[in-house]
Amino acid sequence: MHEIGVVRQMCKTVMDFAAENNIQSISEIVVEIGELSLIIPKYVEDVYPLVTEGTMLSDTKLIMETVPGLAECDDCDEIFNVVEHEGYCPNCGSFDKTILSGKDFTIKEIHLPEENQQ
Ligand SMILES: [Zn+2]
Repeated sequence: MHEIGVVRQMCKTVMDFAAENNIQSISEIVVEIGELSLIIPKYVEDVYPLVTEGTMLSDTKLIMETVPGLAECDDCDEIFNVVEHEGYCPNCGSFDKTILSGKDFTIKEIHLPEENQQ
């Protein structure tokens, strides 16, 4: 389970950002998890409370959004969902493709509590 390392890194990035910007508390973190990133949202959800326990993020809500794994076929230019079609191009059956999205785990947004907003 490599999610714990990924979540630790994410929390560090958020806390570094907060420290640099004098932010005292964060209400929500929105992350995007690509379908092809090999990161399982359920595990992220499970380890998040462990990683944030005792930190400024212990009351911060984690919101996860899934990014579909899309690829473009190198042979016929069809754009298709890699997971749905098991890596095959549904149009011509080719395995040669260029991944367009869904490979990354990224922090999309950080929301501050209402009273801190200017
Ligand atoms: Zn194709």
